[in-house]
Amino acid sequence: MQQAQIDRLRSSAIPAQQLFVGGRSTPAIGEARLDVVSPIDGRVLTTIADADGADVDVAVKRARQAFEQGSWSRAAPAQRKKILLRFADLIEKHALEIAVLGVRDNGTEIGMAYKAEPLSAAGTIRYYAEAVDKVYGEIAPTSGDVLGLVHREPLGIVGVIVPWNFPLMIGAWKIGPALAAGNSVVVKPPEIASLTLLRLAELASEAGLPDGVLNVVTGRGASAGEALALHMDVDVLAFTGSGAVGRRLLECSARSNLKRVHLELGGKSPNIVFADVPDIRQAAKVSANGIFRNSGQVCVAGSRLLVQSQVYERFMAELLEATARLRVGDPLDLTSDIGAISSQVQLRKNLDAVGRAEEQGAKRLTGGEQIRTESGGNFMSPAILADVTPKMRLWREEVFGPVLAVTRFDSEEDAIALANATPYGLASAVWTGRLSTAHRMVRAIHAGVVHVNTYGGADITVPLGGFKQSGFGRDKSLHALDAYTDLKTAWIAL
Ligand code: NAD
Repeated sequence: MQQAQIDRLRSSAIPAQQLFVGGRSTPAIGEARLDVVSPIDGRVLTTIADADGADVDVAVKRARQAFEQGSWSRAAPAQRKKILLRFADLIEKHALEIAVLGVRDNGTEIGMAYKAEPLSAAGTIRYYAEAVDKVYGEIAPTSGDVLGLVHREPLGIVGVIVPWNFPLMIGAWKIGPALAAGNSVVVKPPEIASLTLLRLAELASEAGLPDGVLNVVTGRGASAGEALALHMDVDVLAFTGSGAVGRRLLECSARSNLKRVHLELGGKSPNIVFADVPDIRQAAKVSANGIFRNSGQVCVAGSRLLVQSQVYERFMAELLEATARLRVGDPLDLTSDIGAISSQVQLRKNLDAVGRAEEQGAKRLTGGEQIRTESGGNFMSPAILADVTPKMRLWREEVFGPVLAVTRFDSEEDAIALANATPYGLASAVWTGRLSTAHRMVRAIHAGVVHVNTYGGADITVPLGGFKQSGFGRDKSLHALDAYTDLKTAWIAL
């Protein structure tokens, strides 16, 4: 990836966007449009359709027709694999174009976006393509006079609703296994970052995915999103986003057809540094990246730091140094470590969270200010707040921005109690030189992921999902196929 290539792509005009339904770009029924505002400079990049329930209904009907017609849902797994592999290749071929488009839309620094969005999405699609002809049904160990066959079947229509921080990566975690299993899909992208998912659907069509199997309906959560959640012909809803919306989706399911709902929600993940941490400098550097990359807009971000008292001063000095080295800048500049905050609304929320924590007695050690205002974009310096206590909102509530809450602890028991003192349970980390401490902490922390002597970084082979109010869905790995298939028994008298 060269800066010159990025610069060539960054100023290309983006035409007004339509929906992608039934295998082609399609106008919405109504005239309503939403501006796509770039977080880099505040300019309007283009517009998207502000679709509503009527558009969702058309997309679901097309998805259902495709499913019943069977050219995808009943295709031989090897045939689905072939098309999905082609799809993955096309994503990779257009990776830089897609990455730049996404950064213009949501502000993630390009180095991270390139890997985490198109390249990760291509890898995910490829992983499920390769899995699809290797997952078998079962023959049950019955008595000899019967044959019990357990078939694995696609569920039908999968609704996918995703957030703006990594719409393509997270979208692919759901679209990949859903398509591989033979379902049809209707995606509702986040209203402030819809462009890459629209492009993804075009590439799927180009790869040979039959019309109607993958549809994208843009619009606001409260209208297009909720219409999908309430639709009587959607069988599964796979959601990543906030807890408040997650709750709403469960209600929508109860009020409509009891569709299965898979929720991947927020986090307030503890990052715990014991005094016997093998390499303090490295731990501080990785911890700074673990909260501040993509401006903290990462669901698994290590947003609560717990440091054992004996090494507190040394660790904090290293952390402040590592944070000072992170350069906040134009996300399309390869030298920037941290890009823009996705929207003005989110920026305001982050700044308010810092102000409120200070009012409640937290001590701001660095950052927490709006910067680069001359750019017209949304930029914020990474904030570190010390002396945060479990009573403060900053300890319990997700900010989803570059704001780190810090406290110190004495014993392992204290660390466990502090770590678990939130309604969330998405990710966590432990830094220690003792294997036994690491294993005890893995057992004691209520979270879907416990990193040991690292933060972040995982791959498609391991599941991701939360405990407690971080939700109960599991993306990634072969386990994700369970969300998009069901078991059917054939009981045959011999
Ligand atoms: P959000 O919940 O506001 O929106 C997520 C999606 O839901 C968007 O597409 C939005 O349009 C849609 N939506 C909003 N209201 C809706 C409604 N009433 N009905 C149906 N759909 C609706 O979240 P966000 O601000 O886009 O993203 C940030 C949140 O996502 C954070 O809480 C973050 O932790 C979480 N997140 C979780 C993970 C994970 O894997 N667990 C990953 C990334 C982000």
